[in-house]
Amino acid sequence: MQYRRMGNSGLRLSALSLGAWVTFGGRVGRGEARELVAQAYAAGINFFDNAEVYARGEAERVMGDVIADLRLPRDGFCVSSKVLWGSVEDPRPTQQGLSRKHVTEACHQALKRLRVEYLDLYLCHRPDPETPIEETVLAMDSLIRQGKVLYWGTSEWPAELIRQAHKIARAAHLHAPSLEQPQYNLLHRERLELEYAPLCAELGMGTTVWSPLASGVLSGKYLDGIPAESRFTAPGYEWLARKLDEDSERRPRQLREFVALAAELSATPAQLAIAWCLANPQVSTVLLGASRREQLAENLGALDVHARLDDSTVARIESVFAR
Ligand code: NDP
Repeated sequence: MQYRRMGNSGLRLSALSLGAWVTFGGRVGRGEARELVAQAYAAGINFFDNAEVYARGEAERVMGDVIADLRLPRDGFCVSSKVLWGSVEDPRPTQQGLSRKHVTEACHQALKRLRVEYLDLYLCHRPDPETPIEETVLAMDSLIRQGKVLYWGTSEWPAELIRQAHKIARAAHLHAPSLEQPQYNLLHRERLELEYAPLCAELGMGTTVWSPLASGVLSGKYLDGIPAESRFTAPGYEWLARKLDEDSERRPRQLREFVALAAELSATPAQLAIAWCLANPQVSTVLLGASRREQLAENLGALDVHARLDDSTVARIESVFAR
């Protein structure tokens, strides 16, 4: 495993990490979840990503039980939670958003579900236009001072809001956000590369990037239809399949070229897609998703593929999706 500093912080995260979205508490049973976490930890992964909203809290519950059952040493791994949408089916006004009330309650609930005394990372899952940023910054700072959170961050916040949060924190000597969690993959590059890269350089923030395979699309498995037992058949995730059709003219050709390029480079398409994310030095860690051990094993192989990537190969990969 390779380890990278999360921005200017002293925290060293594994370059590949494991997330719980769609899988834990949903399609993946507890036994498989246990095996996935054990496999990840054995491979050197030290960061597990969650959110209150994943399977309405059940993802965190499974992750917490599994980590406790495996007796992972608390000083050897990091866990996150994300707050905004709530963990109940039909959240009341106090059970969602970024108010001091919900940010605090959601932290307490995540600590219980994950069975830990503190969250390593705690993120605002999106902005909340109905809560002043000052209130959220203060709430996060209080949780840090209480020892319940170590670092806080944002996910898909407009850069301007992140700048404002830093300004507020600086002026009042509060803890500022240390990381942003954006989507980043070969089909979705702009936000990280154009909006967040300058911000990270300016403010020293790290990035924990999500959906390196664009929900599996970059593995090439959807090229000839939607396979049974794949994410696009999961109840409630039909919107992902609809997104696949959005660029239906160019996309299949690009993906076929990408699959051929991966074969030429003795990699699988999934490995090449993840290795490409790793090639960006602004990325602190690439969050993997896996519903089976075989997928995780394959995706971990991206580290070796990354070690073989040079600038001209990165340019070749990018040119496939530029046409
Ligand atoms: P990916 O884009 O890598 O998608 C993972 C899914 O693709 C797997 O669950 C599996 O689905 C399929 N897959 C994985 N490996 C392979 C393979 N080798 N071959 C074929 N199919 C494969 O990542 P995610 O979208 O899961 O995102 C990773 C993590 O990022 C999440 O768990 C979450 O923690 C975080 N995230 C954060 C968000 C945010 O708003 N902050 C939003 C989304 C994710 P299947 O087998 O079911 O087809």
